[in-house]
Amino acid sequence: SAPVVAAVDRLMRRADSVRRLQVRANADTPEDAERARRFGAQGIGLCRTEHMFLGDRRKLVESMILATTDEERGAALAALLPLQREDFTGILAAMDGLPVTIRLLDPPLHEFLPDRTELSVRVASTVARGETPEPHDVELLAAVNRMHEENPMLGLRGVRLGLVVPGLFAMQVRAIAEAVVERKRAGGDPRAEIMVPLVDTVKELSLVREEAEEVLAEVSKASGVTVDLPIGTMIELPRAALTAGRIAEAAEFFSFGTNDLTQTTWGFSRDDVEAEFFSAYLEKGIFPVSPFETLDREGVGRLVEIAVAEGRAARPDLKIGVCGEHGGDPDSVHFFHGAGLDYVSCSPFRVPVARLEAGRAAIPDDGTDTTK
Ligand code: PEP
Ligand code: MG
Repeated sequence: SAPVVAAVDRLMRRADSVRRLQVRANADTPEDAERARRFGAQGIGLCRTEHMFLGDRRKLVESMILATTDEERGAALAALLPLQREDFTGILAAMDGLPVTIRLLDPPLHEFLPDRTELSVRVASTVARGETPEPHDVELLAAVNRMHEENPMLGLRGVRLGLVVPGLFAMQVRAIAEAVVERKRAGGDPRAEIMVPLVDTVKELSLVREEAEEVLAEVSKASGVTVDLPIGTMIELPRAALTAGRIAEAAEFFSFGTNDLTQTTWGFSRDDVEAEFFSAYLEKGIFPVSPFETLDREGVGRLVEIAVAEGRAARPDLKIGVCGEHGGDPDSVHFFHGAGLDYVSCSPFRVPVARLEAGRAAIPDDGTDTTK
């Protein structure tokens, strides 16, 4: 009803006026970005690019990853470039004037490759019938076998994929830069930022930065429009948190990926929270609450604090945010406020809650505040 709407509105405005944490949203499509904006998001803290490589584009991705020659790989990347540019133009247009942190590709490899079992059954049954299998299937199977990993989530993903598949990250950076040029020419105010996933060491980040800066310079020169974008990293592995001072040498911003950071700190799979033992652990109180929902302050929180302190000591103007699920969890938002982060980023629907909690975290709990 109207009085309730007015009261909520008053509360939100009060929260917005006192909070120190900015609130951004995680969004991968223009539609999600627009929704996030309506909910009051002050930018996109995480634009995942994985889904942009599925569906119709699967074949191109397969040939990019399995390519045996530079020409083959180059052709696949060249076909992907305009599609990616269009993806980014749409999101930048929806968030005109606000920061959009675009994360370079971070899928576990198996999500892109053909199913290994299916493929080997197909080849084996053809052979069993005394027929010759398709040469393409045989080639594909050999490649998939060669690249097979027992633990893909701890394998060739994120920055590792970018460093191993030549031209992949360069293609994405070029698409981002060209989308920025396109938006600027259309009179827009695009504020793209480039984020590198799953970084363990400063060396990985420096290599990507070098390549990215070259591409940005090329696009600037070719277009006559200066494209100088911030480059930062996810902090989502314990090693990255512990060496954040070094990593900050090559990063203009950090964003904590607390989903992976929780998984790797605890050594529990984030994809198996439905497992029987997980609920047993909750029942026994070993997990007071699920660490994947509410930030574990004693362990993961310590790593966050170490990384903030080390990162800021090395680079005082370092921007720091969080884009894991915890960015929209009330208790965790209070923690991030206390840890001195600049922003939290969460799913669009959780943005209002995050704004409110960020406001509550900034108000001293001494009973003098009347908005509560
Ligand atoms: C994270 O790990 O917290 C994160 C935001 O990245 P993703 O969930 O895509 O791995
Ligand atoms: Mg992650």
